[in-house]
Amino acid sequence: MGTRRRIVAGNWKMNLDRAEAVALAEGVASGANSCANCSLILCPPSIYLAAVANALKLSKGNSPSGVGLGGQNLHNQPKGAFTGEIAPAMLIDIGCSSCIVGHSERRTLFGETDAIVNEKAKAALAAGLTPIICVGETLEEREQDRTAAVVTEQIMGSLEGFTPADLTASIIAYEPVWAIGTGKVATPEQAQEVHALIRQQLATLTDEETANQVVIQYGGSVKPDNAGILASQQDIDGALVGGASLKADDFLAIAKHFAEAS
Ligand code: PEP
Repeated sequence: MGTRRRIVAGNWKMNLDRAEAVALAEGVASGANSCANCSLILCPPSIYLAAVANALKLSKGNSPSGVGLGGQNLHNQPKGAFTGEIAPAMLIDIGCSSCIVGHSERRTLFGETDAIVNEKAKAALAAGLTPIICVGETLEEREQDRTAAVVTEQIMGSLEGFTPADLTASIIAYEPVWAIGTGKVATPEQAQEVHALIRQQLATLTDEETANQVVIQYGGSVKPDNAGILASQQDIDGALVGGASLKADDFLAIAKHFAEAS
């Protein structure tokens, strides 16, 4: 496990109103010192990024509470005629330090391929954002014993052309699609097995030393009562949390497990 950082990110998806988003950010910020060894990132709906940046008192990327801000999606171009899209530099401008890229909902509902995820991740890196690059198999793929092949293809495609510096400036999130929002969490053994495989592939892409530095998060029905056992696995360095990130106490309790495992 070495000295890898612990990072827990909350994906609020398309939930909450502005007042609720501000209250949630304030709640997380006020409890963040209880899990100081674990970095926290909040990814609100883009329309509330400014309100949450304000609630976190972010100024030029500095966060007094230590809680970072992330986007849920971005466009791969720096600017232009792309109605409804958000450029990487705009996320930086509003106070983000990271952005989720290739979440399974983007892949399945919005047609994002590995090639698109690759372009977006590179655009994020070029702007100075940490891409949180998501991969994971469907239930059907797992049942057909294709998990390793699917995840390998996603990793190789999404990270094509990455340098060691690109890789260490990124976060990988392993999110089995069948565990997202379903209450079915992967067993610690299932998750660890895929995390170890991903780390092996990162070493193939670059080298072992680089691969050992990359933070690999698990995502899929992470809750306070299963976070401890996940956090104790050798290659699980954090979590990407959906549902449980909508309650400050639950999100902080999850982060505390990762802080204690560090
Ligand atoms: C997610 O959307 O990335 C996620 C993991 O959701 P949940 O925690 O609700 O399963």
